[in-house]
Amino acid sequence: MGGSEYNKENGTLIIEEQRERMSLDHKTGYAALIGRPNAGKSTLLNTILQTKLVAVTPRPQTTRNRIFGIYDRDDAQIVFQDTPGLLEPKDSMHQFMMREAERALEDADVAVWLIDAIKGVTDREKIISQKVLASFSMPLIIAFNKVDKVPLSERAALQNSLAGFTFPESHRFEYISALYGDGVPQLVETLLDYMPLGPKLFPPDQLSDRTTRFFVEEIIREKAFLQLKEELPYSLAVRIETMQEGPNLTKIQATLHVERDSQKGIILGKSGSMIRSIGTEARLALEELLGTKVFLELWVKVSKGWRKKEGHLRDFGYQE
Ligand code: GDP
Ligand code: MG
Repeated sequence: MGGSEYNKENGTLIIEEQRERMSLDHKTGYAALIGRPNAGKSTLLNTILQTKLVAVTPRPQTTRNRIFGIYDRDDAQIVFQDTPGLLEPKDSMHQFMMREAERALEDADVAVWLIDAIKGVTDREKIISQKVLASFSMPLIIAFNKVDKVPLSERAALQNSLAGFTFPESHRFEYISALYGDGVPQLVETLLDYMPLGPKLFPPDQLSDRTTRFFVEEIIREKAFLQLKEELPYSLAVRIETMQEGPNLTKIQATLHVERDSQKGIILGKSGSMIRSIGTEARLALEELLGTKVFLELWVKVSKGWRKKEGHLRDFGYQE
């Protein structure tokens, strides 16, 4: 580097040089996963990250917030965003999910559109293509998922059924089984083809702990959401108070924050029956996630107007 005088006071130049050297062979970028509910987005993220950290359920529309999963290896870092299903907005909850999905797309260097190859290409895919993908300028990978259930001979037909659809100029097709991993390493390499050179965005040694807590909260929130059947979709936030991880047992205390006394009543249920069944469902899922027995203690607290307080919002993970 020309004129590389070392600034003794803050070491700026050295840092710049290190960054540049690192960037020569390190790729960093954002990838958005899009697709209808149940296409297999969470499963794919789990397989790529080789964890069971993303909430996967056979019931659609349970992925609420944008979930970051960070794929890290020596020469690359990919920040994944698992978008809630792209749906026609029917109510405010759906609108919220659409907005989240669109926001994930704004940040991305590349997008993966997962299509359930068992269901095939339907009118719904056409709507997604016309409404969302048509305005795309970023590269798009169209990945047919669940090919473990689809004979090889039907692949060409799947691709043909997309004839006439609008795609960004730069797009490719892949065939994968998110569940069993077939085609997934290839997909990761394809993603990296589109990623710019750059230094790591997140220090690798800080990834696991933060993400574990985040996903624990996410799972509790998801179970509450499923049990409550959309009775309070907006005003529920979950926060871990304590989490003690042992080899065989994890003790977790968490608080469910709501805005009104009436919502607290709904969550508690008749003589506590609702909070108990949320707790049971969450505990079972957490035991699977963490691989230990889980002792879960849930509290419900009314935090009036928490949604309006920005600091609070960020606290609860609803804002970047
Ligand atoms: P999401 O809503 O797009 O996040 O979908 P999920 O990841 O939650 O997956 C929905 C369902 O499809 C789950 O029951 C998964 O086990 C199943 N699934 C996902 N990927 C595959 C796959 O490659 N093959 C098969 N056979 N099933 C899959
Ligand atoms: Mg999901």
